[in-house]
Amino acid sequence: MEKYLIKKSANANTTTQPQGAITSNNSSGSSNASRPAGKHNSAVPELVDLNKLPRDPAKRKRMADYHPNQRDEIRRKYLIWGPNQPRKLEFPYREIGKKKKKRRFNPDWYDDYAYWLEYSEKEHKAYCLCCYLFRDNIKDNHHGHDAFVVEGFNCWNKTERFVTHVGDRNSFHNRAL
Ligand SMILES: [Zn+2]
Repeated sequence: MEKYLIKKSANANTTTQPQGAITSNNSSGSSNASRPAGKHNSAVPELVDLNKLPRDPAKRKRMADYHPNQRDEIRRKYLIWGPNQPRKLEFPYREIGKKKKKRRFNPDWYDDYAYWLEYSEKEHKAYCLCCYLFRDNIKDNHHGHDAFVVEGFNCWNKTERFVTHVGDRNSFHNRAL
């Protein structure tokens, strides 16, 4: 992860503009859950204004949907910002399980998982910044489903999932770092 902060991108000064701009951009308004997984767009994405990148994890495009020359710059920007960790929110309660116990996100969890845990104010779900940034670098996707990466996590009674997300040395999350 740190190498992205230190390394100067060879493409940083490129002036290349992609041909054939995409006219319809579906990044706004669509939730992560409705994202088509594994759908490849053959058109080259437009370059984006780095200062206008969305901070909220539920509003972000997949890294693979950004222009290839810009992805390292975008990763660095998000690493400098750090995980999206709002603390002064009214975290809404959810009724969970058969007993309908009311649970909600606890911002103290940021302290335990300071480098990756983030919260979406839009979806009221938790995400992982590291996996968002580096997931596409890892070719084999047979690790399958992980709520922290795509659709967001909100099983607030299952905090052991924070630990299992980090997992062992070979977990996706650790290989992404
Ligand atoms: Zn992760």
